[in-house]
Amino acid sequence: MHCPFCRHEDSRVIDSRTSDDGSSIRRRRQCPACQRRFTTIETASLSVAKRSGVTEPFSRDKVVAGVRKACQGRPVSSDDLAVLAQRVEETLRASGRPEIEANEVGLAILGPLRELDEVAYLRFASVYQSFESLEDFESAITSLRAEREARADDAGQGEDVETGGGEPAVAGRDASR
Ligand SMILES: [Zn+2]
Repeated sequence: MHCPFCRHEDSRVIDSRTSDDGSSIRRRRQCPACQRRFTTIETASLSVAKRSGVTEPFSRDKVVAGVRKACQGRPVSSDDLAVLAQRVEETLRASGRPEIEANEVGLAILGPLRELDEVAYLRFASVYQSFESLEDFESAITSLRAEREARADDAGQGEDVETGGGEPAVAGRDASR
């Protein structure tokens, strides 16, 4: 690869290191002409095909931007959003395909967002899945409740009943906001 300083046509790899999550390799390179060093980062390309037919590189920033509005006024930090975007990327990369559809990005956002904040999830899902009526919200909320109860049951296993019964109090607090 070209030296970014002098445009020499070749460069030598002097060190190469895989990132912690194994998704990228950083290579330290040296130019044999000017001796300057630079770093390249190699990742598998992941493109998003938009409905218009245009493809663009996957971007965590775009995921964060897409979710941020739904999180307005919610107790969700920038760190939370960064972690969410990372999880979305990991999910999409796990598909093993170099190109994915734009709507798959939205789908991959739903799960982590639901764990992060249920209200933000409902807002995002209502736009993304084009909720058209109260019934759409109702069925989304019903499934959220069912999952929450399933989780409470799991948590209650092997513990006393009162611990398992703690969850509905949280639901009551959320509903009163
Ligand atoms: Zn050079």
